[in-house]
Amino acid sequence: MNLSLIIPVYNEQDTLPLLFDAIYQTMNSLDRTWEVVLVDDGSSDDSLAVLREYAEKDKEHVRVISFRRNFGQTAAIAAGLDYSQGDIIILLDADMQNDPADIPLLLAKLDEGYDLVSGWRKNRKDNALTRNFPSMMANLLISRVTGVELHDYGCTLKAYRRPVLEGFRLYGEMHRFIPVFANAVGARITEIVVNHHPRRFGQTKYGLERTAKVILDLFTVKFLISYSAKPIYLFGGAGLILMLASAALMLYLFVRRIFFVIAVTGSPLFQTSAMFFILGFQSMLMGLIAELLVRTYHESQRKPTYTVRTKINVADHD
Ligand code: UDP
Ligand code: MG
Repeated sequence: MNLSLIIPVYNEQDTLPLLFDAIYQTMNSLDRTWEVVLVDDGSSDDSLAVLREYAEKDKEHVRVISFRRNFGQTAAIAAGLDYSQGDIIILLDADMQNDPADIPLLLAKLDEGYDLVSGWRKNRKDNALTRNFPSMMANLLISRVTGVELHDYGCTLKAYRRPVLEGFRLYGEMHRFIPVFANAVGARITEIVVNHHPRRFGQTKYGLERTAKVILDLFTVKFLISYSAKPIYLFGGAGLILMLASAALMLYLFVRRIFFVIAVTGSPLFQTSAMFFILGFQSMLMGLIAELLVRTYHESQRKPTYTVRTKINVADHD
């Protein structure tokens, strides 16, 4: 299997026929083996019935997974990945805001040797105030913090080579951070401008609160990417800084005591110094516990701490 389209579907009954038309039009023009995995994320409308109809008509290409309840877009994407077989994965939304006609462009970019091609909705057709502006700020922030410079993390339409999706699992609402994780396993990443259309049926499932979640997720992502293999650097680093600050304060108090005869214990700086010392020491200990967790994490799953691109004259080991 060459190509898997993965599409999360949540209450999109009216758009699905249009979506299928567009997919067939694009896929029939490509010379590739393909499948489309549609994940019904616990829809309460007739989406599943519509999907079932198409799946029955085209057993070769259409696969459907249906959740027992609504687990969210990220979970739907994760399931799609688990149940798909293509070497190349393309994610897109079911609501036809993404344009399946852009797929050949993404594939052409992959063929240039990239592992991940991100869509960029340069001309985005969503609410400017509640969606586009916050999203622009979020993209700048994510690019800055993670060092993976993309204009549009939120655009679902992206193409991936499967190996760069294999080293991690998606939790919460993390699917927008896939490029960051992929970068951490060594993916070559680029982006291209893609079409974007206003939503024609149904309504968006997200609002302004999404941005807050993205910011919180960014903390987790940054921590996982930069410190998950060496948490002591973060906790221990903070601990060292606090303990140094504590020592500096203490030194100051002693110098003052000796040369100016001002009582050490009378100053609030003494308590501050003691507090810094305790916090710093605690932080170091937390770092050590985190180091234990890291080892459990990797060893319980026999998860390597590296990723391999090619092997030459080397047999697989188990
Ligand atoms: N979606 C989903 N589960 C959810 C919310 C959304 O599977 O809980 C799907 C939805 O059907 C659509 C895609 O995720 O295919 C993007 O959702 P939406 O269009 O509401 O987001 P927006 O385009 O406004 O960011
Ligand atoms: Mg949408």
